[in-house]
Parts: sequence; structure tokens; C-alpha cells
Amino acid sequence: MYLKALEINGFKSFANKTVIEFDSGITSIVGPNGSGKSNILDAILWVLGEQSYKNIRAKESSDVIFSGGKNKKAKNQAEVSLYINNDDKYLDIDFTDVKITRKIFKSGENQYFLNNERIRLKDIHNLFLDTGIGKQAYSVIGQGRVERIIGSSPKELREIIEEAAGVKKAKNEKEEATKKLENVKNEIEKIDYVEKSLS
Ligand code: ATP
Repeated sequence: MYLKALEINGFKSFANKTVIEFDSGITSIVGPNGSGKSNILDAILWVLGEQSYKNIRAKESSDVIFSGGKNKKAKNQAEVSLYINNDDKYLDIDFTDVKITRKIFKSGENQYFLNNERIRLKDIHNLFLDTGIGKQAYSVIGQGRVERIIGSSPKELREIIEEAAGVKKAKNEKEEATKKLENVKNEIEKIDYVEKSLS
């Protein structure tokens, strides 16, 4: 699995449709201060479902929509798509070409798509959980994040290692199964009670 391309339209400083293709090997993004290099990383985090606007250097949801510039009018929506080669089926879905899209409108409404079909944010999280490229993953290390990791508490460090080792998905599934078990136990207790009161 690898990232093939990123398409940005109306997101932060990218007023018009811009496609960035990632070749095999290392890609470097260079440019003057304030030219939008970090906005590219923000776009990747955002399309992967980032919910914390602080993590993508914004104060509120609409901050990610192009707000106007030299001879350019502000946009009403922003859209980012990530194209992924999934030939090796690293992502647990049938597609070999995967396109993940996130859109936001001025109203603050967010929409998510998998290969142009509408999906939920939860589906995106599940798709990338334990793959190393989810929103909680450490594939995108922003400025200052290294210091934050070094300064993490033992509990936070454990969470980082669990995500990297791929056990987080199993932990979430265990939590869900435990909740279901608890519900079933409650139902059995209710049935026992009704049975006893009838006998
Ligand atoms: P540096 O090298 O200094 O870290 P950079 O190349 O990483 O800079 P970014 O931080 O990605 O630059 O981009 C900052 C630019 O993005 C600023 O000029 C800012 O005005 C612009 N910008 C951010 N959000 C928006 C928005 N919603 N609409 C228009 N422009 C925006």
C-alpha cells in the first residue's frame, strides 16, 4: 500500500484544484515560508478524519475553507481526496485503488466518501485503524509532535506503542464485545425475574 496522490480543492491556501503525485521513494516538499507546505500535511490528516482543529492549526471547522486572497474570492466548500494503491490488500477491503474523500461546507457539514460512495467517519477510522496511517497514527509527525511524544506520560506512551504494534483494533473490539455481553447478562436477569414472578 502506498499513497499515490493527493487532490486538494478549496482547502486552506489551495484555492483551486491542485494534484500532488507521490512517486515511489522519498518525496520532499520545498517552498518559501508561508507557501503552504504544512497545509499539505494538514490536508492529509484532515481527509483521514482528523476532528481536532488544533491538530491542523485551525480554530474552527470553516477555517479550513479557502478564505480569499489576491484577486481570488473565498470558497464555499473544501474538498480533499487521498488516492491509495492497495494492490497488496494492506487495507482490508476488496478495492486495489482506494480514493478517500472528505468535504466540508460553509455550514460546517462534513461528508466522507470511499471511492465516491458516501460513508461514515467511523468507517474511515476502522479502515485505517492499526494500519499506521490513521489519524491517531504516527505517520504524520507535525512540528512540535516529537517533543510531545518524548514528554508523554507512561499511559500515553503505551497507547502510542499499542497503535504502532496494531493491537488497538483488537482492544476496541474487545470493549465492544464486553458491552454486548453486559447487555445480554442484563436481558437474562430480566427474563429470570419475569419467569420467577410467573411461577
Ligand atoms: P513555513 O515554512 O513558515 O512553516 P509553510 O510553507 O508550511 O510555512 P503553511 O503554514 O502551510 O506554510 O501555510 C500558511 C499560509 O496558508 C498562510 O499564508 C495562510 O494565510 C494560508 N492559509 C491558511 N488557511 C487559509 C485559508 N483558510 N484560506 C486562505 N489561506 C489560508
